[in-house]
Amino acid sequence: MNQKSNLKELKHLVDKLSSEHSLSKDEWIRLITGRTPALLEYLFSSAREERCRYYGHDVYIRGLIEFTNYCRNDCFYCGIRKSNPNIFRYRLSEEDILSCCHAGYNLGFRTFVLQGGEDAYYTDDRIVRLVSCIKSRYPDCAVTLSIGEKSYDSYQRFFDAGADRYLLRHETYDAQHYSRLHPPSLTAAARQECLWHLKEIGYQVGTGFMVGSPYQTPEHLAEDMLFIKELNPQMVGIGPFIVHHETPFADKESGSLELTLFMLGLLRLMLPKILLPATTALGTIHPEGRELGILAGANVVMPNLSPTSVRKDYSLYDNKICTGDEAAECRRSLEKRMESIGYQVVTARGDSLN
Ligand code: SAH
Repeated sequence: MNQKSNLKELKHLVDKLSSEHSLSKDEWIRLITGRTPALLEYLFSSAREERCRYYGHDVYIRGLIEFTNYCRNDCFYCGIRKSNPNIFRYRLSEEDILSCCHAGYNLGFRTFVLQGGEDAYYTDDRIVRLVSCIKSRYPDCAVTLSIGEKSYDSYQRFFDAGADRYLLRHETYDAQHYSRLHPPSLTAAARQECLWHLKEIGYQVGTGFMVGSPYQTPEHLAEDMLFIKELNPQMVGIGPFIVHHETPFADKESGSLELTLFMLGLLRLMLPKILLPATTALGTIHPEGRELGILAGANVVMPNLSPTSVRKDYSLYDNKICTGDEAAECRRSLEKRMESIGYQVVTARGDSLN
């Protein structure tokens, strides 16, 4: 097939995705493997149209509080894995976290995302107390938890304490691929089961995956899209895999900006009302990564609200940005960046429309 008819066929698939919001596995694979710069432009303009239909030019902000980098898990890609002895471990106290919220509230944040490693110090009781305390002080704010795999009962308790949302990336749908990224104690099935539990309980759920993780194929990405379609979450967080030099994947290659943007555009067309962050990882691999993410269909950014002294220690991957415009205290410069591409940062909870 020549290039021209190929482009025509792929544009047709993008149109089909726009109108039907789903594709078959083969069609996903054809799109992902056949993509060209011209197709990307076509996809992005369609994705922007969809996002504008529902969210206008608004960009929601979330204050990210990375409250502990202790972790009992040993994910092969992650810099805070328990077997990395060469990082300084920290955990914020309840008081520290509350003062991050205080600062964030004054900066206009109406969602606080508490993310951390799976840290035994933070028992269910402590999380429950923390969530209730934040919700009683800031009743107009949403609280998002991102603290990994827990039992149904624990998720239920956090929800009853007032947690609104939960982020748990499925990382990769394929069980074999999952097992190449994680130790045997962690399985794709267990991860996915958590997501179904979270949905059943009534959370606004976020899932997602890394783009360009080691051993990932277009087929895996196609399965990720099919899984996300079935789960129908309110949020999807994706970002490029980025090497961390002190992990088993130190010699692997990082994921690309181009494929990450492409997947963002596809997600916007598949689930038009989705909340889609232009992630820190995207901002890390390219100085304008987040702007490009917004232009590909994203509508959320998550600036860092953690105390500056610990930010560098939440080192999921190398060179993670943390002191520039992505920092919460630089809200004004983030606003300028978004204005420069025709979008505006808003002070709102930013709940999902689905
Ligand atoms: N413990 C929580 C939070 C994990 S960190 C949980 O289990 O959900 C948040 C996300 O960072 C992970 O889900 C993973 O997708 C991403 N991440 C970790 N290491 C990364 C790396 N080296 N490159 C890019 N993203 C990474």
